[in-house]
Amino acid sequence: MTEVYRNYIAGQWVESKSGKTFPNTNPANTTEVVGHFQASGAEDAQAACDAAAKAQSAWSATPAPRRGEYLFKAAELVESRLAMISEEMTREEGKTLPEAKGEVKRAINILRYFGGEGARQFSYQIPSERDNVFCYTLRKPLGTVALITPWNFPIAIPVWKLAPALVSGNTVVIKPASLAPLSSYRVVEALHEAGIPPGVLNYVTGAGGAVGNTLVEHRAVRAVSFTGSCQVGNALYEKVTRRKLRVQLEMGGKNPTVVLKDADLDFAADVLVNGAFFSTGQKCTACSRAIIEKPIYEPLLEKLIVKTQKLKVGNGLEPGIDIGPAVDAAQLETDLKYIEIARNEGALLLCGGNRLTGGIYDRGYFIEPTLFTGVTPEMRIAQEEVFGPVLGLMVANDFEDAMRLANGVKFGLSASIVSRDLTRVHQFISGIEAGLITVNLPTAGVEYQLPFGGTKESSFGMREQGPAALDFYTETRTVYMKYA
Ligand code: NAP
Repeated sequence: MTEVYRNYIAGQWVESKSGKTFPNTNPANTTEVVGHFQASGAEDAQAACDAAAKAQSAWSATPAPRRGEYLFKAAELVESRLAMISEEMTREEGKTLPEAKGEVKRAINILRYFGGEGARQFSYQIPSERDNVFCYTLRKPLGTVALITPWNFPIAIPVWKLAPALVSGNTVVIKPASLAPLSSYRVVEALHEAGIPPGVLNYVTGAGGAVGNTLVEHRAVRAVSFTGSCQVGNALYEKVTRRKLRVQLEMGGKNPTVVLKDADLDFAADVLVNGAFFSTGQKCTACSRAIIEKPIYEPLLEKLIVKTQKLKVGNGLEPGIDIGPAVDAAQLETDLKYIEIARNEGALLLCGGNRLTGGIYDRGYFIEPTLFTGVTPEMRIAQEEVFGPVLGLMVANDFEDAMRLANGVKFGLSASIVSRDLTRVHQFISGIEAGLITVNLPTAGVEYQLPFGGTKESSFGMREQGPAALDFYTETRTVYMKYA
């Protein structure tokens, strides 16, 4: 029988007040239900926030290095279950098993990294202009924080929010995406087994509107960290700023890779295929626009077609699969809709473009990796996030034209350049409107120990990950002490 997973509130595993649950389905095999989760409502979210508020003062008084120890213990527990959690992630989200394993390892690293922050939490001391006055700053937790996470990195994103939040002395209520709640459940379970005190961490599943609204409206909640779509993020912004809550929004992208004429073509094609298609293009940092200098446009296009057509699409649990399914029927429909829009607007399909059918494909949401040429800046495929394996190729007359095209969108999450020309590379780094910039690397593939976040419509608020994460989850207090 399929397992029923419960909410975690005040240190207890509890059912939703309504007793209702919803299924978590495998997108590679829709006949398989991975688990049933609580269809929580406002009352459950309220109970979780109340529990977090009650636990706040004792947790913030716990020495930070001791708070970090819970993260170290949880890292060990997650590591001991790496194989199981990775397989579950592939089954609930669809990404390939090696991708899932990489993500679980990253979550373990994040837990350890922020566990170590318990013993750092640097603040600073500044000389006073007055005699015998000692001035310094302190970091204080904000209070209770609400974390709302998407399905595409179902363990890494929850962990890169909850680990810095907890080690800074905040109590947490987390609401994971309904499409992939099991991966973050495993982290909550590990922290529970590590002995985290009741109420410090609370986990509530259920529909975004019902649970999410209650979280952001609860009087104890002092900050909201959200990753997801612009549509939901922008609506949340309206609500939380009315209450003057601290808010962090990480949202969509339309990330470019610029390929200059000096690039090695095979290498550039690999960078593009990796950035655009791995994880089925369902990364906020995935590349969806290849901006290529004219002299190499045709030969690079030929290489891209060959490499794209070699990719194997299938159930990510099978060895040798490069690309899993779209996460659900709605995302598949969105991918196909944008392919249709691109064709209608005059882009030329080079390969892919179809839902895959027959055999195992009939049981899941599989789609061919898709390449378009002749994409021009005003087309919707050049401007709007698809969040699927669809790459538009755009021709640039020269470097300046490439920069104009790359910056000509409302988003600014990640951007990359492929070139050995150091001058151009520096000009790109200086002029590109993106929060994450890579050189001779795909647009996706960031590391946990560095700040993460975008510019323009992609993001709002302070950076996540790395040392910057603590700035969001703490408030600075300034002390002036006359000692003689
Ligand atoms: P989404 O639909 O916006 O959902 C994100 C989270 O918000 C989910 O937990 C969702 O719950 C919840 N939610 C939905 N409606 C809500 C409401 N009214 N109030 C509060 N919470 C609500 O996004 P998604 O489809 O999961 O993720 C894909 C998007 O995330 C893409 O646009 C992608 O670019 C973006 N993303 C950005 C980053 C980044 O760092 N910039 C990273 C990863 C993904 P339910 O699941 O229950 O609906």
